[in-house]
Amino acid sequence: MLNRIIACFKTKLVVYLYVYYSYKYTIMTSTSKCKYCNEPLSGRADKVFCTTYCKSAYQYQQKKDKPKSLFEQVDYQLKLNRKILKPFNKNGVTTIREEVLLKEGFNPKYFTNYWKNEKGDVYLFCYEYGFLRKFDQRKKLYRLILVQWQAYMK
Ligand SMILES: [Zn+2]
Repeated sequence: MLNRIIACFKTKLVVYLYVYYSYKYTIMTSTSKCKYCNEPLSGRADKVFCTTYCKSAYQYQQKKDKPKSLFEQVDYQLKLNRKILKPFNKNGVTTIREEVLLKEGFNPKYFTNYWKNEKGDVYLFCYEYGFLRKFDQRKKLYRLILVQWQAYMK
């Protein structure tokens, strides 16, 4: 008698488990594939990626492919300009051919502030690094005079 009751419970338990798991985990058909690597998926029905690696790789890709906003573009260029100017601008004042910086991605249209000296020359700054474009008549090219921000330039 007791054995029969236990057997009956066991059967019920199996049925419960079956219903529970078929609800939570459906057997994946071969058409379900990882959204990133395209490998067939197994496990939960709502699974989209095979691994957490694929999930983060996909999200990174999405973010990278998304067109950048104007704010992000300007922000990026300003920081890039500063980064390019910094190593060239160690001795207070330096003169350099503009094309050297342009090759590295420098864009003189992007600056954060300016300073006009007594002669009327307008130095454009990317944060603390400034530049003045001067045309070299003899060599027919632009040179940049690089300076660092000083307190008197306020
Ligand atoms: Zn994957």
